[in-house]
Amino acid sequence: MRRNRRVKILATLGPSSSDQETIEKLYRAGADVFRINMSHTDHALLNTLVGRIRAVEESVGRPIGILADLQGPKLRVGTFADGSVMLENGAPFILDADAAPGTIDRVHLPHREILEALQPGHRLLLDDGKIRLVVQQASATRANCIVEVGGKLSNRKGVSVPDTEIPVGALTPKDRKDLEAALDAKVDWIALSFIQRPDDLAEVRKITRGRAGVLAKIEKPQAIDRLPEILELSDALMVARGDLGVEMPLERVPGLQKQITRAARRAGKPVVVATQMLESMISAPVPTRAEVSDVATAVFEGADAVMLSAESAAGEFPVEAVETMDRIAQEVERDPNYRAIIHAQRAEPEATGADAISAAARQIAETLSLAAVVCYTSSGATGLRASRERPSVPVIALSPVVGTARRLSLAWGLHCVVSEDAHDEEDMVDRACRISYSEHFAKPGQRIIITAGVPFGTPGSTNMLRIAFVGSDGRGGI
Ligand code: PGA
Ligand code: MN
Repeated sequence: MRRNRRVKILATLGPSSSDQETIEKLYRAGADVFRINMSHTDHALLNTLVGRIRAVEESVGRPIGILADLQGPKLRVGTFADGSVMLENGAPFILDADAAPGTIDRVHLPHREILEALQPGHRLLLDDGKIRLVVQQASATRANCIVEVGGKLSNRKGVSVPDTEIPVGALTPKDRKDLEAALDAKVDWIALSFIQRPDDLAEVRKITRGRAGVLAKIEKPQAIDRLPEILELSDALMVARGDLGVEMPLERVPGLQKQITRAARRAGKPVVVATQMLESMISAPVPTRAEVSDVATAVFEGADAVMLSAESAAGEFPVEAVETMDRIAQEVERDPNYRAIIHAQRAEPEATGADAISAAARQIAETLSLAAVVCYTSSGATGLRASRERPSVPVIALSPVVGTARRLSLAWGLHCVVSEDAHDEEDMVDRACRISYSEHFAKPGQRIIITAGVPFGTPGSTNMLRIAFVGSDGRGGI
């Protein structure tokens, strides 16, 4: 099974999409990577979901990426007796230290340090800033507020306190446990929320030790200020527009999205654009024009992946949301302006063998209209450099390491296949040709370009380019 687009789709799993049948439907509809949100998932469910995704992987015969998203020092309200309440403008509402289920009058705020730090006049922004409270009276265990902007508030919605100084660490105790559980479950990516400084990433890298890719969610002004250093220590970025749009003025988000996307593309690290992409599809089978345009903007910009949150996790139309993203992406990538826009943001190759080879492979493939670029990549590093080139022809990434194939499924344009390393040059050509043929990228008589490293079986040595004919039976020709 191959996709007819280069941008990837990341779909969040949740109550609307946790059974194996739905996960498989989401995959078939176009989801390339699944996100498990640790804010809403305990370890038993994490393991169950990973098991189901791996079973789907088996059933569709394709490597699938799994991203575990750590909650980070995100503040959330507790739960409500009825799951949610409707807060009216001007009504009083209390946040307190009492763990009892919430009502229309009050709810638990399970963060002592925040209750202690709140002062009269401070604003509280709830649920991505949709609801605004202002503190009237504050004690160490409760804050009496007035609802300035009301709305439906449901279990565990996020709280932002832009006026309040709070001491927060990089990984909360819950994050540490979730991180260990996610690594034990062999997820492919770990996403870190609310990072503020490069140290936050260094700490996580020490724990992950390469067992998963580390994705930094950019959602705080402090992270924007130190983006180059954060990018350096990350394997991927996410433009986390939900919290970014609460922490920063909303009108700055589109510009920041472009800056972050371009910085990541220059570095050759995958970048995901996330949150509210098809928000109205939570409860409607068709999106708004503005949402379609938003997804299109991310695709035109050359983002590696676009993400669905509640649309696939908790909405009424999870499969339709993935299908919609898939259709938008395919149409944008066929648009006459698309190539020129992508090309305009292509960065020069760096002075390494892998970059020189990747750039040359793209140029040759485009000049000769070859059927595919096939790159042998064991660690995934060469696969990412091939993706960074954003070639107009398909890229097949062959890796003997299943974890690499899964991890690379997040990267723009890479069709990942698990395959043994080539034994010699003939095997290299033959294997690349057969896979290009069997995966429906090349027909007999077409040519492909292969990048690999000799001596074979030595990682990190991409140093060779080879054009090859796909033979009549899919085998490698001259
Ligand atoms: P979240 O991250 O859904 O975990 O909050 C994404 C965002 O903030 O946009
Ligand atoms: Mn967030």
